[in-house]
Amino acid sequence: MSGPLTLSNFVNGVFVPMPDRATVDVVQPSTGTVLCKVPLSTAADLDTAVQHGLKAFEVWSNITIKQRAAIMFKFHSLVDKHSEELASIIVRENGKNMTEALADVAKGNETAEWATSLPQLAAGKKLEVSRGIYCEEVRKPLGVVAAIVPFNFPLMVPFWTIPIALTMGNCVILKPSEKVPSTMQRVCELFIEAGVPPGVFQVVHGAVEVVTSMCAHPGISAVTFVGSSKVAEIVATSCRRLNKRVLALGGAKNHLVALQDSDASMAARDIVASFAGCAGQRCMAASVLIVVGENKRLIDQIVASAAALEAGQAAGQVGPVIDGIARTRILSYIDEAERKYGCKLLLDGRSWSAEKKHGFWVGPTVIQHTNWTDPALLEEIFGPVLSIIHVDTFEEALQIENSNPYGNAASIYTERGANADFFIKRFRAGMLGVNIGIPVPREPFTFGGLYGTASKFGDFDVTGDGAMEFFSNRIKITSKWTAAYSTGAAGQGAAATAGAKRPAQDTLDKQTDKANFDGCM
Ligand code: NAD
Repeated sequence: MSGPLTLSNFVNGVFVPMPDRATVDVVQPSTGTVLCKVPLSTAADLDTAVQHGLKAFEVWSNITIKQRAAIMFKFHSLVDKHSEELASIIVRENGKNMTEALADVAKGNETAEWATSLPQLAAGKKLEVSRGIYCEEVRKPLGVVAAIVPFNFPLMVPFWTIPIALTMGNCVILKPSEKVPSTMQRVCELFIEAGVPPGVFQVVHGAVEVVTSMCAHPGISAVTFVGSSKVAEIVATSCRRLNKRVLALGGAKNHLVALQDSDASMAARDIVASFAGCAGQRCMAASVLIVVGENKRLIDQIVASAAALEAGQAAGQVGPVIDGIARTRILSYIDEAERKYGCKLLLDGRSWSAEKKHGFWVGPTVIQHTNWTDPALLEEIFGPVLSIIHVDTFEEALQIENSNPYGNAASIYTERGANADFFIKRFRAGMLGVNIGIPVPREPFTFGGLYGTASKFGDFDVTGDGAMEFFSNRIKITSKWTAAYSTGAAGQGAAATAGAKRPAQDTLDKQTDKANFDGCM
């Protein structure tokens, strides 16, 4: 009897089996069964893909951006056409419910849609800066670029960079998460069908060795990484040491502040969707709710609607977490909060893991804290857990939010514009929300946390014009042409005389164009 299929790398337009490589199991989170295996590619495997990418780059970067956008149009419609099939793979391999999986595909495909407008947005500029001297700026692609992605959005996160990188003229090598590799495997076929030439988009499966090699390989011009802060920092440091362009998005601990003037019913619905949706495995999920003043009604409603959620993968249900390691980590934060730090569990989701005999399940959990320094309040849990803490003043709320090392997202719930304004000006995060629990900026806006925090290392942003900037070099061209002037009334109708300046023009130039060093040493 044959065992689970081992996936192939996708190199130079074909799937290449890797029979001699070590493998890791891809496990279905809802059942714990092995779905397939992922080969752990080596540095040499990556090098093969890079060489094909460099060859493909010669052609891909030399067709026009309009030609590349035309291919992206086809690709976008293919992803749309196959969205249910792609979502089914996500449900099986990642554990999301079907609605969440379809949103993963739709949101990812918005980036492909945005990439089709790049011919309108990526045009350069040209200006006569001194008489007869022109400065021009054009965007050129970087070369072969690498994308390293996490498990939590098997399609959307790879799409944060790939369609824009490709349309700007780069070739891309993706290392999918070894926990959810199959969605992007299917996307390879859609790229072929759309007309993307061999070597332009490639997939090299694996783990640490591939990531380390992507950072070190001289043929890779830039690296994007999305994942935990620890690895984001390693990737950013390795790339920067080589002066390689890098954007590494890390983890998060997102704070929501609820004021007494908030709409409790709306806020409760929103907060539950934010912390329990996608089983809390979202870098934009709410993890800490800071309640300013008493607000029993809000907390009661949060607990009641979270308690009503059921385990499962149908619309509105809460799916499993990704694997046994994640489940153990989440449960230990809850155990520790209760036993070691004396927190009250307003809702305890640990029973799901005991009740479900297969797979990795944790129910929505709400922890009431009284101490700011509890680990569950400070560290990323990445599961369906909401920590609640009460404070008396705005300043205390800001102190808690501002002192956390992450800086991905933060939101305020209030009905008063002046309160919202106060918080928006002072939160320490890259993506802010007012009365919204998941303040994800959608195209044409860019996505990314705050520089200088554990949520973001490197340059620019993903999606939108931040990604356009990341995936291009601005080349500055200065040209000098001898200006042609009419010789005045006597010369009307005659051919312009090159180089002949009118005296008045000459005087004005001398007075007003003092930075013109034309012909000077
Ligand atoms: P992870 O850091 O474990 O893995 C991310 C990628 O890095 C994977 O492809 C993995 O193979 C690789 N990797 C893992 N360990 C490595 C190592 N030691 N050296 C080199 N490469 C390594 O992250 P994950 O568990 O897949 O995803 C969850 C994390 O991603 C959370 O921290 C979450 O907040 C974060 N995330 C952040 C964003 C964002 O926009 N900031 C978005 C999604 C997820």
